[in-house]
Amino acid sequence: MLVIKGFNSDCLRDYKRCDICQRLYYKDSLVKYHNKYYCLDCLDYKADYSTQNDYNYIKDNDKIRLGIELEFDYIADKLKAFLFYYKFKLCYDGSIDFGEFKSPIFNIHRFRYVLKKFYEMYKKYKYDSKLVSSHIHFSFIDREKNSKLWNNWGYLKEYFAEEESKFIEYLYDNYDLFGRKFNSYCQVNDYDSRYFFINNTLKNTIEFRLCKVVNYCQLKWLLKFILKFCDIIKKVDKVNFNNYKKIDYLLYNYYRYYNQKYLKELKKGV
Ligand SMILES: [Zn+2]
Repeated sequence: MLVIKGFNSDCLRDYKRCDICQRLYYKDSLVKYHNKYYCLDCLDYKADYSTQNDYNYIKDNDKIRLGIELEFDYIADKLKAFLFYYKFKLCYDGSIDFGEFKSPIFNIHRFRYVLKKFYEMYKKYKYDSKLVSSHIHFSFIDREKNSKLWNNWGYLKEYFAEEESKFIEYLYDNYDLFGRKFNSYCQVNDYDSRYFFINNTLKNTIEFRLCKVVNYCQLKWLLKFILKFCDIIKKVDKVNFNNYKKIDYLLYNYYRYYNQKYLKELKKGV
């Protein structure tokens, strides 16, 4: 049993351990989420920018992996506690005022479940929190499928950067579903850069950088588009790479459809 000099057991009940550093604190000075407590030092401690989050929720029959980076200029302590509870890792990022929370590796069910809860909390604390962007990472667990996706996009992205793409042209003016305009951190000109809006310069994962997802309705429809995008690109046959226009048209059509669905639901306040 833990004994602290000068405390009787009644006092001890007012003290809790921070779930991260395990130090004992007066309960009221900690931030609580569910049954866990977090100290203010730990809620603000940032790991290096390049630190990865390897914690994963993948099960045997899962087909895909998803991850999300949530970048904040500022964020409410309650929301930080929520993210730590679900094993996000807080990292330093020089381009934003506060930092970025890197998610663990989710399967699709866990991704939807945790993010749905996150956006309920975000709504509640939106005046104390400012989300700047939310990059989404996708990969197939099947290696062959994944390298097809990764390589195919490597070939195709030049077309989307340099030709007159209907998909890109539409996206310029209808960025609601992704949530933000092209900018220097998610651009469409330099297809070899890690800032290309759909980036495959990271190993084995496709990163959607244009996302600024601020509600669950948006996430739901954007996720449908991302799944569709990865499925289409994965299936492209190398001999048919000349058929870029058709792929472009498919992406344009799906994107337009999901974007409109999202805007309709948003209007109805679903
Ligand atoms: Zn702590």
